[in-house]
Amino acid sequence: MDFELDKELLFLKEMVRDLVQEKVVPRAAEIDRTDEFPWDIKEDLAEHEILAMPFPEEYGGTGGKVLPMVIVVEEIAKVSCSVSMIPGAQCLGSAAIVLAGTKEQKQRFLPSLASGEKLCAYALTEPNAGSDVGGIQSFAVREGNDYVLNGTKRFISFGNIADILTVFAKVIDQNTGEKKLSCFVVEKGEGLVVRNLEHKMGVKGTPTAELFFDNMRVPAEDLLGAEGDGFKIAMQVLDKTRAEVAAQALGLAQGALDVAVQYARDRVQFGNPIGKFQAIQFKLADMEMKTQASRYLTYVAADKYDRKAHDRGKYTAMAKAFTSDTAMEVTTEAIQVLGGYGYSEEYPVERMFRDAKIQQIYEGTNEIQRIVIARSLLGRGF
Ligand SMILES: Cc1cc2nc3c(=O)[nH]c(=O)nc-3n(C[C@H](O)[C@H](O)[C@H](O)COP(=O)(O)OP(=O)(O)OC[C@H]3O[C@@H](n4cnc5c(N)ncnc54)[C@H](O)[C@@H]3O)c2cc1C
Repeated sequence: MDFELDKELLFLKEMVRDLVQEKVVPRAAEIDRTDEFPWDIKEDLAEHEILAMPFPEEYGGTGGKVLPMVIVVEEIAKVSCSVSMIPGAQCLGSAAIVLAGTKEQKQRFLPSLASGEKLCAYALTEPNAGSDVGGIQSFAVREGNDYVLNGTKRFISFGNIADILTVFAKVIDQNTGEKKLSCFVVEKGEGLVVRNLEHKMGVKGTPTAELFFDNMRVPAEDLLGAEGDGFKIAMQVLDKTRAEVAAQALGLAQGALDVAVQYARDRVQFGNPIGKFQAIQFKLADMEMKTQASRYLTYVAADKYDRKAHDRGKYTAMAKAFTSDTAMEVTTEAIQVLGGYGYSEEYPVERMFRDAKIQQIYEGTNEIQRIVIARSLLGRGF
């Protein structure tokens, strides 16, 4: 498949590149240092309709296609992975509504997310249920026109600042005791307590919250799909958004490679730019090969998703795992090319290295991606 981007996507890429140069480049190191969410940049992203990208036009969005989103996320992540997570989280948090919501639910929740007025979050993980989604312990019991929700969620990106959350919990049938994993749209309010914010090694400025649901009443009309649809919805969301994690990782790899190439031209040792040494040239060549291979795989996965190809889930899993492994390798090698300066905050590659690590972990660890890929080859029984 030839992946020359069409005119429209190239225009989008340039628009985002200019925005990033003006607004993100001057702030990227500071966001990492202060670990504060950049509200001003969130406004800039909203103004440029980047937060509208995950949504269909009829709900105030710009179309909801994954490939343009991937292009945008990659471009931002070249400079700041943390900032690229703002549109990333807006997509992740809302995807269950986009994929499984009724017209009424979409009309109620999506326009204020598309405008950027509200933020959202995806609350799947729990202290005792990470990879093993079936082990979720949060539960909901039907009481009249509401469900009453109890439980704890861990590691929820933007969970403390989100206005709207998609929350996974097991509905307990009071007659039979049967537990059905389900998905709810939950608006911030009474009964939702932010317990703790993580101190993380990277993606600083993207708050990661522990949330506690204490007898929170959720209107029954805010159940997405039917009781018991939760697992299917959670997996459908991740099939989509893993392409965006791949794009974050791709941006990190490209950003680190760009810094390393420039440094190899400029840094002189033994009377020569270090780029003259074959040991450095081979590193740069390997970094370029893996980054370009990641780009093709990521774009193909996004395009397959948009075309609803039957194997899109395998491709987004492959793009996520391959590209995040690449980002880890490329950022590590970039530090090596820069020597001691690479290990210092003076250059951005140490930040990129810290930001790359999480790409191998969230939205399903790379071990879980490999299980998804292998099952697509061997069949469900494996
Ligand atoms: C910064 C950050 C942001 C996050 N944002 C969100 C968010 O917005 N929403 C959300 O719901 N979650 C979020 N998460 C949670 C993240 O998705 C989980 O951490 C991840 O899915 C792994 O779960 P775990 O940490 O419980 O690890 P575990 O599942 O306990 O895994 C531990 C190790 O065992 C391996 N392992 C587990 N099972 C298997 C198996 N069957 N075969 C082989 N290896 C296995 C894993 O790959 C891993 O190496 C975030 C996490 C972080 C750190």
